Amino acid sequence: MSNISIKKYHQFGNLFNYIKITLLVSFAAYSMNYAQIQDKNKYNLRVIDTEQAYKELIQKNSSNNLVDIKKLIPSLKLDIRYAGKNNFLHEQVYNYAKAFLRLPAAAALKKVQKELQKMGLGLKIFDAYRPYRATVKFYDKVKDTQYVASPWSGSRHNRGCAVDLTIISLKTGKELSMPTEFDSFRETAHSDYLNLSSEQIKNRDLLIGVMAKYGFENLPTEWWHYDFKDWGKYDIMDLSFEQLEGIK
Ligand SMILES: [Zn+2]
Repeated sequence: MSNISIKKYHQFGNLFNYIKITLLVSFAAYSMNYAQIQDKNKYNLRVIDTEQAYKELIQKNSSNNLVDIKKLIPSLKLDIRYAGKNNFLHEQVYNYAKAFLRLPAAAALKKVQKELQKMGLGLKIFDAYRPYRATVKFYDKVKDTQYVASPWSGSRHNRGCAVDLTIISLKTGKELSMPTEFDSFRETAHSDYLNLSSEQIKNRDLLIGVMAKYGFENLPTEWWHYDFKDWGKYDIMDLSFEQLEGIK
């Protein structure tokens, strides 16, 4: 081999090594990214969507338990709007009229109900835990995050820490007069709206006050929506009501 040929051979060999190393590094980086992506859905959000993952969460901390609140608080009245067509989509979203909340939120709601009972009143539940797939469905229909949660962030309902409700009279079973219907997108639904009857303001403020006392914060644009104080500690879930029933 001439001197020139040896030099060319070395140059070629170096180039080959360079390509080989580049490919290896790229593959390693791709593999790491792929492992991270697998944990998250297409909206880059981590969603608990298997019964096994949910069971593991409960084993780590029993607060993760999603409790059937009607079983815990039998005196609650349920009017789960997404289990029928009486909702803003005019479509049935859930197969069953069920309401679940994480254990500490459910226990707090029990205290709210107890306090209202002393006044001859009780709670009527419109919605509680909402599987993530329903949030995606709402967004696909409405495409406006002013009114529905985005699939990128999920809803606090998906974490089992939000509840939509109103107050009823235990004697008549009827709802107290409130500023609007459930799921109204009007300004009248805002919790500081004042152009209402004094009775409506009194009823709304009673609900906001008693919920706040037990750790539920009102959403300022929806008098009926309340987030439990520790919602950020809980994962977004996408298990159906049927799956939750089956796990119990
Ligand atoms: Zn809500």
